[in-house]
Amino acid sequence: MAARIYNFNPGPATLPLSVLEQVKAEFLDFKGSGMSISEVSHRSAVFEEMLNDAVARLKRLMNLSDTCKVLFLQGGASSQFFMVPMNLIPEGTTAEYVNTGSWSAKAIKETQILNKNHTVIASSQDRNYCYIPKNVAATPGAAYLHFTSNNTIEGTQWDAFPQANGVPLVSDMSSDILCRPFDPSPFGLIYAGAQKNLGPAGVTIVIIREDMLERVPKDIPTMLRYTTHAEKNSLYNTPPCIAIYMVQLVLKWIEDSFGNLEAVERRNRDKASLLYNFIDNSDFYRGTADPDSRSMMNVTFRLTDENLEKKFIAEATQSQLGGVKGHRSVGGCRASLYNAMDVEGVRSLVDFMKAFAAKNG
Ligand SMILES: *Cc1c(COP(=O)(O)O)cnc(C)c1O
Repeated sequence: MAARIYNFNPGPATLPLSVLEQVKAEFLDFKGSGMSISEVSHRSAVFEEMLNDAVARLKRLMNLSDTCKVLFLQGGASSQFFMVPMNLIPEGTTAEYVNTGSWSAKAIKETQILNKNHTVIASSQDRNYCYIPKNVAATPGAAYLHFTSNNTIEGTQWDAFPQANGVPLVSDMSSDILCRPFDPSPFGLIYAGAQKNLGPAGVTIVIIREDMLERVPKDIPTMLRYTTHAEKNSLYNTPPCIAIYMVQLVLKWIEDSFGNLEAVERRNRDKASLLYNFIDNSDFYRGTADPDSRSMMNVTFRLTDENLEKKFIAEATQSQLGGVKGHRSVGGCRASLYNAMDVEGVRSLVDFMKAFAAKNG
């Protein structure tokens, strides 16, 4: 078997080996059906059982109430940038946004295109999005408050979420869903593209509270209404079957190997501290996010001598440490430490960084 690298890609990203092995083992015969998961009907009992199991596991792990619907949609997290304002800003109300990075900015832009009332109540654009604004609170009566819980590109993450003040929170959790436990009750809607922390590309998870469904207008296309998918258990049309199946396996992997999100968070904190502590104690590397706003999932850093970054990334790749190049819009380096990355992988990266600094310092 070809050696597997430590994969620090931001997304699509590393997945648990045991999940990939199970996919391989049962690819030709899904649960005794005599058909591949890529061939079974999405209307069959075996498929729907699997989908319902995924929903049940996600609800258990996230402690979601029974008044939440879990939807499996297509079009990526990027389609939620317009579906959220299309569905959830009733006439005469205003939505609030926090601008903490490139993905937040894209969500705001779609709201603008739709010409929906919205205001940006806080932003960290003044310092290249290297921090999370403090003391953010929703204005009572707002349609919702939208924020990006983890800024994949800039390497920042909300520690305490914005104060809801009775306003439904809406969050893009694409790159940190299931990385830690939190109280879901102030959230009206949570969305996440699967390809960072949940599974392969092709499916987007939307968790929506039932009271939010009452706002959905009838004059938008059927496929773009949350009610359509909620009423049909994500089976209004053909869903991305393979992607949902792999998400179900990842959720099972989390429950079987960690039990709960407290344990997942402990390991994520250990991994992130390992790397941040090393960076903080080195003159050769420096973190780009403010220490109190740093992400556990995406560690962004530079080499003090930026001219060495190309060599650093190339040699990391040669050493079986993939994907440490920063996003093209910000440059530098980034190591993504999603749930499926183990502590050994981060240790290997730190060892490599140490050796590279010794050779080139
Ligand atoms: C990757 C990412 C997106 C875009 O996801 P797509 O599924 O490619 O549309 C949106 N928001 C965040 C926070 C992301 O990390």
